[in-house]
Amino acid sequence: MALFPHDDYISVTLEFRCNLKCVHCMIEGTMDYLQPQSGQVFEDVLAEQRRNQRWQGIILTGSEITLHKELIPMVEAAKQAGFKHVRIQTHGMHLGQASFCDSLLEAGVDEYFVSVAGDDAESHDRITQVEGAFDKMMAGMRYLDQFDHVTLITNTVVTKLSYALLPALVENLAHLKRLRQMEFWNYWPMTEYDDKNLIPRVADVLPFLEMAAGRAQELGRAVEIKNFPQCLLGEKAHLLDNEQPQLLIDPAFWDQFNRNGFHQCLYREECSSVQCLGLNEAYTAKYGWEKDLVKPIKGGVLIARSFR
Ligand code: SF4
Repeated sequence: MALFPHDDYISVTLEFRCNLKCVHCMIEGTMDYLQPQSGQVFEDVLAEQRRNQRWQGIILTGSEITLHKELIPMVEAAKQAGFKHVRIQTHGMHLGQASFCDSLLEAGVDEYFVSVAGDDAESHDRITQVEGAFDKMMAGMRYLDQFDHVTLITNTVVTKLSYALLPALVENLAHLKRLRQMEFWNYWPMTEYDDKNLIPRVADVLPFLEMAAGRAQELGRAVEIKNFPQCLLGEKAHLLDNEQPQLLIDPAFWDQFNRNGFHQCLYREECSSVQCLGLNEAYTAKYGWEKDLVKPIKGGVLIARSFR
């Protein structure tokens, strides 16, 4: 079972601006036209929570939620509506200001889902294309790590630029006591082709992913892997978890998302995995079907969940 059961959370996209330029950004082509959820939608979520206490937590997200001018009042309103946990999903750069962390903590943000792109300042800043981003993010996580009630979760997008960095990335965060979960999201391009040449071969990623996941577990972290062939993960197959909390987002997002064309696999019919997303359109266009690498899982179904 997931450490943070996805059904316990609702995720609301409220801000589509961002001040990093991550090369792997999955919504960079849509940020200019996707609309954040309206104040009315947010109010409706709070009203539902007040009435039925339906969720444990709310995730405030978008491209970069810390740019939202009303973030603090929104957090306060969520707490007043009865959400036990308020999570922000962030690149972490603004957490470098202790006073900003203090405002978030005081308002009630207890869960911080931080995108870590590389293992050090050189790689993280190169991938996010903003100098100083890593140092600010790390300063923020170090600051938050002092508070017992805080939970840190990291997310790393696995691309050609990052897969070999994963073990060092895990090691370089080993000192964080409140880091409870590390997620590794194998990149999907939101189009039919790998226009940015970021998709790595799964066989190249595998040893680094296994090493990183194993070390994170040794450090006591929960691990979630997304969008990787489940049959390749061996004893770590149970870490594949493509489930997400219910997401309130501009419907136009899904037109773009569906261009990924997940669930492509020569063995889909005979494979019993219901969790695996197979390969996507851009992957097979680039590397083919990996017919000698992936192998259908027979018998036991590992986890019965999928995207959306
Ligand atoms: S055989 Fe295909 S569908 Fe089955 S786990 Fe492997 S990649 Fe996924």
